[in-house]
This record gives sequence, structure tokens and C-alpha cells, in this order.
Amino acid sequence: MSEQQAETKSIRTQTERTEQREHSTPLFMTSSFVFDSAEHARALFAREVDGNVYSRYSNPNTNEFVEKMCRLEGAEDGVSTASGMSAIFSSLAALLEQGDHILACRSLFGSSHQILNEILPKWGIDYSYGNIDQPEQWEQYIQDNTKVLFLETPSNPGLDLIDLEWAGELAEAHNLILIVDNCFATPYLQKPIEYGTDIVLHSATKFIDGQGRGIGGVIVGKEEYIEDISFFCRHSGPALSPFNAWMFSKSLETLPVRMDRHCDNALALAQFLEEQSTVEWVKYPFLPSHPQYKLAQKQMKKGGGVVAFNIEGGYDAAKQFLDKLNTLSLSANLGDTRTIATHPASTTHSKLTEEERAVVNITPGMVRIAVGLEAIEDIQQDIDQALH
Ligand SMILES: *Cc1c(COP(=O)(O)O)cnc(C)c1O
Repeated sequence: MSEQQAETKSIRTQTERTEQREHSTPLFMTSSFVFDSAEHARALFAREVDGNVYSRYSNPNTNEFVEKMCRLEGAEDGVSTASGMSAIFSSLAALLEQGDHILACRSLFGSSHQILNEILPKWGIDYSYGNIDQPEQWEQYIQDNTKVLFLETPSNPGLDLIDLEWAGELAEAHNLILIVDNCFATPYLQKPIEYGTDIVLHSATKFIDGQGRGIGGVIVGKEEYIEDISFFCRHSGPALSPFNAWMFSKSLETLPVRMDRHCDNALALAQFLEEQSTVEWVKYPFLPSHPQYKLAQKQMKKGGGVVAFNIEGGYDAAKQFLDKLNTLSLSANLGDTRTIATHPASTTHSKLTEEERAVVNITPGMVRIAVGLEAIEDIQQDIDQALH
């Protein structure tokens, strides 16, 4: 049988029907499962047979969600977690030991920085950051004890890209475990495993849920690493609730159609913004003016749902713009049906110093738009009136 397309996998990956013959997967809201016999219980605990025991370990809803994500990313195995951050922390904590070192891109999600800078050093795990626009310098940060290469592409909120093929080769040459946070692109737009990535992880809170309802995470990748991460999660307990897993699995059924619309709206908005006289620059991976436009077309199917732009007049002008918006929401989330405007320098990236922000291209006048699924005319109209 030929490999199914993403649209089909996201709809037709489904847990076995119960005797009720339901069409859509039901919610299995149960903390534990019963054994057929004392012998069955023994065999389950000895892991001689497959089956659910306790929902901290597995549940039909989390199993379906993980299996769907594995098929979409092209991964061998996976595990779901209570949040994107627990996916990141559990992966690093499971794979690293005291004395190990992580090389990461500087433009990471804010809480990922806190894990690297503040939490892992408590257990003697060190880090270095490479700048996203200086890949030629990264090799010199690799030490004898470097074990993980940790990346995010496209970056948030700068929308710069890392060449995944280059990263895969770098990791291979230095025997590093390559971990990619694929939250911005989703497996519909970008499949890091095709370029040699070992572990792909997500905040399911964003485009996977897609409707701004729940928090969750997922980790997929090579079996040898997932085995260690699963062990860590089973016993330390960042389990995803069956309800959220059920919701995310339902959401994945519409991931391709939603992403198409997010991307089409975002490209149209980026083109519209480029024509505005009070907008100094616009950044979007599928705009021909993006410095890495060719790379974007190579490793991404479309440009994603996030656009960044800089307003003439700096922070004051950005503030005025945000306060004039009517339809758009002021919030820090992304990947929602509702279009969201964010001022990174004063909110999501306010903990960075001015110099650190400059390195990752977060200017005082930068606004991030997480483009939703409303009619593009209405999104543009609201932005147009707020700009003038
Ligand atoms: C939101 C986000 C996270 C954290 O996920 P939570 O579900 O909020 O814990 C990690 N990485 C990226 C790129 C994100 O956007």
C-alpha cells in the first residue's frame, strides 16, 4: 500500500472501535484499566503483552494522539505530555547527565531559555547559544561533552530559519542528538526527521489544538531515545490528560485545512503590510524579500501562520497601533483561530536585555501577528485603520 497523504493520516489514524461501534473516537476518561486475570496483570506489568494499565502510562486517547503525530512526522515512536514545556524539559532531563552540554540556537522560546539558563545548571548541565544568522560559528561551540543540538525554526518572533539539512549534518558529524521544536511549522509544513532530526517536539497548545482551548505537548522520534524519555515520563508524571489528548486528536483531523488557511491569510497580510508607508519592514518566510526565501521554499511547504513587522516610530507607535485594534486580540498566544497581535519587546521577550533583543532582531517597533482564520479582508481592514 502506498504511503497515505497527511490529510488522510490525520483523519484515519484512529483507535480501535469499541463494541458500541462509534464512528468518532470516544473519550476514555478513566485513570486505570482492569485485567482479565491475575496472569494478564502479571504479563502487563512484565511488559510481555501490550495494553493499558494506568493513564499516567498510557490511555487510548493519548495513544491515538501520539500515533497520529508519529505518522505525520514520520517518527518511530512518541510520548505525550501535559504541556510543550514538559515535552522540552522531559526530553532534556531524560537524555542528559551531569557534566553534559547543550548547544542551542539563541532564538528559543522564552521558557526554553529558562530551562537551559536556570534549571538544568542545577544538575550540572551546561549550555552555549549560537546565533541563527551565523551558522558558520556553531562548530566552535561544540565541546567534548556536547550531547544535544536544540533548535527552533522558524524562530519566534524573528521568523529567521535554520537550514535543517545543515543541522542534520552537523549533528551527525559530531554525534549529537538533534532535537527540533517544530511548534511553529507543524508536521504539515515541515518534517525535520527527513533531514536527520532525532527528536521532534511540540507545544500542542498552538496549531495542533488550533482553537486556543488547551495546554499539551508531544515528543516523537527515534525509538532508542523515546524509550528513555517514556521511562522518565512514566515515573516523573507529566502525563497529558485523556480529555486534552482526545481534543488534540480531533483537532489534527483539520490540521491540513487549517494550516492552508493560516498560511494563505498570513502571506496575503505580509504582502499588504509591505505596501504600507508606515511599515519599515515585514518578515515572513514565503515573502520573496525574506533573506532565506529559497531555504524556506526548500524545507517548508508554506510560510506558516506568523508575520512580524516593524512600525515607524518605535515602541510608542507600536503601542498606539495595538491600542487601536478592534477585531484582533491582544494576547501572547499563537496558532489560534483568532488573529492575535503581540508586542514581543515588552511582553514575551521583556526578560531579555536590549542588546540580547537586538541580536535576535526584536526591535522596539516590532509587532508579531499570529494570523487566524477570519476573513483576510476583515483582518487587513482592522490593521489598516490601526496603522493610520
Ligand atoms: C508555546 C511554545 C512552547 C511552550 O509550550 P506550552 O504548551 O505553553 O508549554 C514551546 N515552544 C514554542 C516554540 C512555543 O511557541
